[in-house]
Amino acid sequence: MILLKDITWAYQGGGTTVLDGLNLHVRQGETVVLCGPSGSGKSSALRLMNGLIPHFHEGTLEGEVRVAGEPITDLAQVGRVTGTVLQHPRRQFFTDAVESELAFGLENVGTPPQRIRDRVTEVVDEFGLRELTGQLRELSGGQQQRVACAAAVTHGPPLVLFDEPTSNLSPQAILELTGVLRHLQGLGATIVIAEHRLHYLRELADRIVVIQNGRVDKEWTRAEFGGLTEEVLRAEGLRGLD
Ligand code: ATP
Ligand code: MG
Repeated sequence: MILLKDITWAYQGGGTTVLDGLNLHVRQGETVVLCGPSGSGKSSALRLMNGLIPHFHEGTLEGEVRVAGEPITDLAQVGRVTGTVLQHPRRQFFTDAVESELAFGLENVGTPPQRIRDRVTEVVDEFGLRELTGQLRELSGGQQQRVACAAAVTHGPPLVLFDEPTSNLSPQAILELTGVLRHLQGLGATIVIAEHRLHYLRELADRIVVIQNGRVDKEWTRAEFGGLTEEVLRAEGLRGLD
């Protein structure tokens, strides 16, 4: 589903090479977690997968990127096959209510109104959003995150990217997010999550990839990861299992 081959990337004016020999293959239907120290390049790797790099960031890119079998030269094509959920859901909302937010992306690609209404109803039910009738900004962090996830997948992308989805969430809201991730897995989505918090991903992730200095330093299967101690994770510069 995603192929990153011998990637180097430097932001214009940034000086350093942020991604430096990154190789990563994410298979269809797989859930992969990217972890690693702050500044190691996790968000940049996600930006490469959704086409923000190089289409919305200036810089120098080398290597091969394929998403759903295609190079990322056509931004509209990458947009169709990916959905992205950011750290602060409030900042990614374009409208102020659930249904308009879900409709927004579909309107932008010229979906017929009846098809939009049907799809929005479907997603509202699928993600249990029926009771969230107020303003988006008045919802709890967990509810906002749920809406952001639903909005990211309304157009039916096979690949969903999450950048630190739990950073503002309470333990209860993290449980809720876990339910949403399981739901997406059930739909067969390929999922990539950049995350510092790892405990809630122990049962969900097929593979945990440690990024250091812009490349893959280590990777664990779910079974291997389950056997790791807090000390090992901290020795890798990771936050541990809190
Ligand atoms: P964190 O865990 O803190 O979110 P990260 O692993 O996601 O970190 P990135 O955000 O990919 O790391 O950043 C990697 C490096 O690229 C950092 O040194 C950062 O300062 C730099 N960087 C990120 N975005 C830009 C940008 N838009 N312009 C210039 N440099 C950037
Ligand atoms: Mg980041």
